[in-house]
Amino acid sequence: MDALDAKYPFFATAREAVADAAVSLPELVAADAPAVERARERVERALMDGTVASESGAFPAESEYDAQAELLSYPIARILVSLLDSQPAIEKYAAAEAATAIDRIREDLATDDELRSMSTPTVALDDVLAEFDLADAVRPEPPRPSVGAGGGAAATGAGTGRGDAGRDPEHYWIAVGPYLRLTSPSWGESWRLVNRALADGEVRVSREELLDALEAAVEDRVCEGLPFELAAGEGIAAELESGVADLKRLLSERTYAGPVDVVAPALFPPCMRNLIEKAERGTDLSPPESFALMAFLVGIGMSPDEVVAFCADTSLDAEGIRYQTEYLSDDRGSQYPPPTCETLANYGICHNEEDHMQVAADPLAYYEQRVDEADEITDWREENATATEAESE
Ligand code: SF4
Repeated sequence: MDALDAKYPFFATAREAVADAAVSLPELVAADAPAVERARERVERALMDGTVASESGAFPAESEYDAQAELLSYPIARILVSLLDSQPAIEKYAAAEAATAIDRIREDLATDDELRSMSTPTVALDDVLAEFDLADAVRPEPPRPSVGAGGGAAATGAGTGRGDAGRDPEHYWIAVGPYLRLTSPSWGESWRLVNRALADGEVRVSREELLDALEAAVEDRVCEGLPFELAAGEGIAAELESGVADLKRLLSERTYAGPVDVVAPALFPPCMRNLIEKAERGTDLSPPESFALMAFLVGIGMSPDEVVAFCADTSLDAEGIRYQTEYLSDDRGSQYPPPTCETLANYGICHNEEDHMQVAADPLAYYEQRVDEADEITDWREENATATEAESE
């Protein structure tokens, strides 16, 4: 078992490492091995914080768990999440595994070659593409010809070369089939095929967009085969019973916490105000940005119709808003807490203005505090209703 298997436990080599290892998961669970505690943490962090990274620190340098515990915690976490008997919990768990993996992949890609050749276990983009059978479906866009080099336009879909030596390409071309399979129009207008450069059966994407698509591929991989069919009260399910009960209790506490149910944009945290301003300028939000904003607006008690009206003059399209908010608002989505400040910082959405991460763990908690402290609040819903009435007169 090596550190790379532990870092990316859903890779085929990691699954083989688990299969080849002379360890029995039921025995590990019965012995309450470190992998079991890490598995419980993995699921709890996924459901509560949208990440599976250990609170003890980044793996492998800072984590209190070794590679074996980290790797084996993954199959045990899959058993735990199956025992929760909740499809939203499975989806949330898979999304958190994918978000954490893509953060790690992003870090790996940013690691320079000198460090890579030393002790840090990292993957290259080609490894990740090959893992998901995308090696032949994705190719980097050839570099634009430099001044004086002559030749035609670079971004036409022709050619197969890599970017300038030492520089990662900024754009890629992905075959239309995988593009449609791994992306969704609900991510925003810009993801619709009609709004994309398309040539010879390939779609042009930026490097960040390619990572978004790979995140979806990881999520699909993690979801494969879940939930396991396990007889309750028997074998490994019986051994994990108390851990599952703790997780269910956490989920129900989260589910029944009532929303603050007042819409006071002036009191929104800076991260959400920044996203709204960005969308108001007509700039597309990335999928994590739009998810964070939708989860926040639903989290403060807004209905899908209200969110559509609230975002009417932004780059967010009504259909995408409705799809996301309805999912987040219904019973299936009620277990989706808004991402934490830590997760938003990892996505570059939070800049921790005035160090207010000290005040709250997530944007919703921060907003609730500001609402509690405010002397007078004007609810946007009342203002909006008054404006609509005035228009109709
Ligand atoms: S600390 Fe939290 S609430 Fe504040 S801007 Fe960052 S993510 Fe938003």
